[in-house]
Amino acid sequence: MGMWASLDAMWEMPAEKRIFGAVLLFSWTVYLWETFLAQRQRRIYKTTTHVPPELGQIMDSETFEKSRLYQLDKSTFSFWSGLYSEIEGTLILLFGGIPYLWRVSGRFCGHAGFGPEYEITQSLVFLLLATLFSALTGLPWSLYNTFVIEEKHGFNQQTLGFFMKDAVKKFIVTQCILLPVSSLLLYIIKIGGDYFFIYAWLFTLVVSLVLVTIYADYIAPLFDKFTPLPEGKLKQEIEVMAKSIDFPLTKVYVVEGSKRSSHSNAYFYGFFKNKRIVLFDTLLEEYSVLNKDILEEPGMEPRKDGEGDSEEIKAKVKNKKQGCKNEEVLAVLGHELGHWKLGHTVKNIIISQVLSFCLTVLSRRFEFQADAFAKKLGKAKDLYSALIKLNKDNLGFPVSDWLFSMWHYSHPPLLERLQALENSKQD
Ligand SMILES: [Zn+2]
Repeated sequence: MGMWASLDAMWEMPAEKRIFGAVLLFSWTVYLWETFLAQRQRRIYKTTTHVPPELGQIMDSETFEKSRLYQLDKSTFSFWSGLYSEIEGTLILLFGGIPYLWRVSGRFCGHAGFGPEYEITQSLVFLLLATLFSALTGLPWSLYNTFVIEEKHGFNQQTLGFFMKDAVKKFIVTQCILLPVSSLLLYIIKIGGDYFFIYAWLFTLVVSLVLVTIYADYIAPLFDKFTPLPEGKLKQEIEVMAKSIDFPLTKVYVVEGSKRSSHSNAYFYGFFKNKRIVLFDTLLEEYSVLNKDILEEPGMEPRKDGEGDSEEIKAKVKNKKQGCKNEEVLAVLGHELGHWKLGHTVKNIIISQVLSFCLTVLSRRFEFQADAFAKKLGKAKDLYSALIKLNKDNLGFPVSDWLFSMWHYSHPPLLERLQALENSKQD
C-alpha cells in the first residue's frame, strides 16, 4: 500500500465532498473580495474624468484621458476573464475533471504498456494534459488582451505569427523543465520513506535556486534578444554609478522589449559578484526603435499583417516619442540599485514565505526607500521627471481607490512618490 493506492482512494473518500466544499468556499470568498475591490477601483476610473488639480503640473488632460480609458478596458477585461476562470475552476471540481483526467492518463499508460514506473508515467501524462488544457483555455483570453486591448491603446508590437510561435515555445520550454523535475520529485517522494516531505522540500528549493540562476542567461534569451549596451556615455555613467556604491556590475544589456510591447522597464539580476543590468530598449529615448519610426517614413512601420490602418498607425507614430533621457535612465537605475544596496532582494526572498498582503505593504515601503536612495545620489530631479514620463509612456492611472491600491499595488501611487521626492528635490 504505497501513496499511489491512497491517492487513488482519495477520489472516492467520503470526506471528499467536505474538502471540495471548503476549497470552493475559500476560492469564491477570495474571488468575491477581489471583485469587490476591483469594482471600487473601476468606479474611480469612471468618475475621475478630469485631472485632479494637484496633478495638473505633471499630467496633461490628453494623457490622463488616454490612461483612464486604457485602465477601464483593462478592468473590464479582467472582470470577464476572472469570472470565466472562477467558473471554469468550479465546474472542473464539481464535475470531477481532475479524477477524470487522472483516469484518462492511466488508460493511456495502460495502452502504451509502461512497466514498473507506471504511476510516475501516469502522473507525467496527467501533468502534460493538465498544462495543455490550461494553455489552450487561456489562449483566447491572452489573444484578446494582446491584439484587442493592448493594440487599441498602442502598446502591442507583436504580430500574430510572433505571438503563436512564442506561445508554442513557452509551452515546450515549460514542459522540458516541468516533466523531468516532477518525475524526479515523484521518485523522491516514492523512495523517501517517512521523511519524504523533507527531501521533497529540499529538492524543490534546490530546483528553484538553479532555475533562478540559469533563467536570465539560458531561458530568457530563448524568447528575447539581449545585446550588450554599446560603449558610450550612458554605459560609462552606469559603470561610474555602480562603482560608487560598490555594485559588482559585470555587464549591461539592452533587451529588445519593443518586439512585444512598448511598455518599459529596467532590472538587475545575478548572484554575488556577478551582477548584470538589463534595460528595455523602450526605456531608452536614444535607443528605442519605436522612436526611429518617427524619423522615417510611416511606410517603415514594422507591421507585417499588411492592414491598411494608416490613420491609426500615424496616430501611434506621432505619440511614440517615448523613453527617458540618459540622466533619467540613470536615475531609474539609481532607484533599482537602491533595492540592492538596501538588501531588499534578500529580504524579499526571506519574507516571500509570509502572506502576500504583508509583502505588498513592505514592498511599498521599499519603493520609498529606494526613491530616497536615488535622491541621495543627487538624482531627485531626474527621477521625478522619469517617473512622470514612465507613468505617461505606460498609461498608468494616477488616481486609485485606497483599499484597492493597498491590496494590490506593490508600488506606491505616483503622486505619493512624487511628493516624497519633492520634499527635498532642491538638494
Ligand atoms: Zn522599485
